[in-house]
Amino acid sequence: MQGAGSNNGLYFPEEIKEKARDFFNDIDACTFPQMATEILYDFAEADFTYQELLDICTRAFNFPIPLVKVNERIYSLELFHGPSLAFKDVGARFLAEVLKKIAEKEGEEITVLVATSGDTGSAVARSFFNVEGIRVVLLYPSEKVSKIQEKTLTTMGGNILSLEVMGTFDDCQNLVKKAFADKEAFAGKKLTSANSINVGRLLPQAVYYFWAWHQLSEAERKNVVISVPSGNYGNLSAGGIAWKMGLPVKRFIAASNINKVVPDYLESGNYQPRDAVRTLSNAMDVGDPSNFVRIREMFHDDHQQIKALIRPFVANDDQTREGINKLYTESNYTADPHGAIGYLGCKNRMDGNETGVFLETAHPAKFKDIVEESIHTEIELPEYLREIQNKPKQSTQMPADYNKFKEWLMENI
Ligand SMILES: *Cc1c(COP(=O)(O)O)cnc(C)c1O
Repeated sequence: MQGAGSNNGLYFPEEIKEKARDFFNDIDACTFPQMATEILYDFAEADFTYQELLDICTRAFNFPIPLVKVNERIYSLELFHGPSLAFKDVGARFLAEVLKKIAEKEGEEITVLVATSGDTGSAVARSFFNVEGIRVVLLYPSEKVSKIQEKTLTTMGGNILSLEVMGTFDDCQNLVKKAFADKEAFAGKKLTSANSINVGRLLPQAVYYFWAWHQLSEAERKNVVISVPSGNYGNLSAGGIAWKMGLPVKRFIAASNINKVVPDYLESGNYQPRDAVRTLSNAMDVGDPSNFVRIREMFHDDHQQIKALIRPFVANDDQTREGINKLYTESNYTADPHGAIGYLGCKNRMDGNETGVFLETAHPAKFKDIVEESIHTEIELPEYLREIQNKPKQSTQMPADYNKFKEWLMENI
């Protein structure tokens, strides 16, 4: 419920237990919800029974997550088959089911605040729409999300309120952080966050790393590297948690666009936040990734250890377009700009005997214009995206100013 800790601190498990050896044999027969329950029960047993958690997982993870072979050595883990067509559905749907259960148990209204660079917002909006006892306030940076993304953020109505912030994603994130820190203004209100800073979203993301691994052959499992298109570093933090739980992957690749604060840290040991720059892979346009401290925490801030486990990779917009094109022409695979950077991460940072898995984080149709430009072919829109095209935008413009935001919140929640 407490999205962030006091002083803007982030919650993190005190202990991450390593799984016993049998676990890795037994999970081969599991469905995704069963595997999720096995993995997450370690963190949830104080709050839910095993059966309650299994019910939550069964309702949350009701879409497929296939591992698709792209070429001899590289696979795509397609995380975009959920309702909003992006990987954030995994965390958002789990959190929605958990909060629904809490609201039910406590009988109190909950307000969820979310800063989004695009896909978080639509995942949260779709997951929480019409959920009784819960209201959602979405903040997104004006003109920094694609047209289709904006539709997904602003057309739901009902219990989903959208704010178009005149600033960057980092501004949105700061407004949300300040509201959480402002105990005085919101005393008596139940505020929570659905950003990737919420552990309720972070932990379930660890599950699909196990899921990917378990779909590979015995031989391939020996040398697996996983490339994670990264922006706010929730996804890669979850990979680190899976690794700490004993998932036998060899390495991760932090696949980044030119907002390369973390790749630079991996090279130099210096963490230098800076302003975000706009790119084609806009869900990764983050200049001061909130979750990266979690990776530092996990490895006791030991730069050498972190560097040994995570290799950096950076692609600019031209390389991203080229990556989309190559994947299409050489492997007949259509990727979105984020996934394409993940793929390039595999291609450029794998060693000879390794098998690579890149996380395909969004449906290519969410970035239709860029993808079509890159592959010179039209792609079809899934039904959900066709439907929202004609719905009217409902959002309120908001300056990147905490006092204005606070006033609005106090009136509207
Ligand atoms: C959010 C997002 C990312 C970045 O994930 P982080 O957990 O913030 O690093 C990558 N790709 C897509 C499509 C996203 O929506």
